Amino acid sequence: MKIETKEIYKCEHCNKLYQLKHWCLEHEKTCNKNPDNDRACFGCRHLTKKSETIYYDTGYGESERKVDLLYCNKLDTFLYPPKVEHKGNMYETEPKENKPMPRTCKVYDDESTDFDEFFNCN
Ligand SMILES: [Zn+2]
Repeated sequence: MKIETKEIYKCEHCNKLYQLKHWCLEHEKTCNKNPDNDRACFGCRHLTKKSETIYYDTGYGESERKVDLLYCNKLDTFLYPPKVEHKGNMYETEPKENKPMPRTCKVYDDESTDFDEFFNCN
């Protein structure tokens, strides 16, 4: 039997283990538990999913397919999460833009119903 002692790398946020430092660093950038990847959008009722037709260039011509994108009803725009931002593989949408999720948001709302807007007298 061979016993080897070697360094392993552990994600600071979720404790996942990696043998290669490079992959651990890559993972940490997109780790869901990395506070840097947290956005108010994830707990906000304005965020919904929308099915959208994406047009793309295949190299031989244009093609299309349907994808599910995140959409903010309040800001009236598509939003992509930090993970997509890091990878740089966001879709381009028209006429409504696909933007990165804001770090802080003025229209953030975690209420689950619309009733408060009717009864809120502040
Ligand atoms: Zn992690």
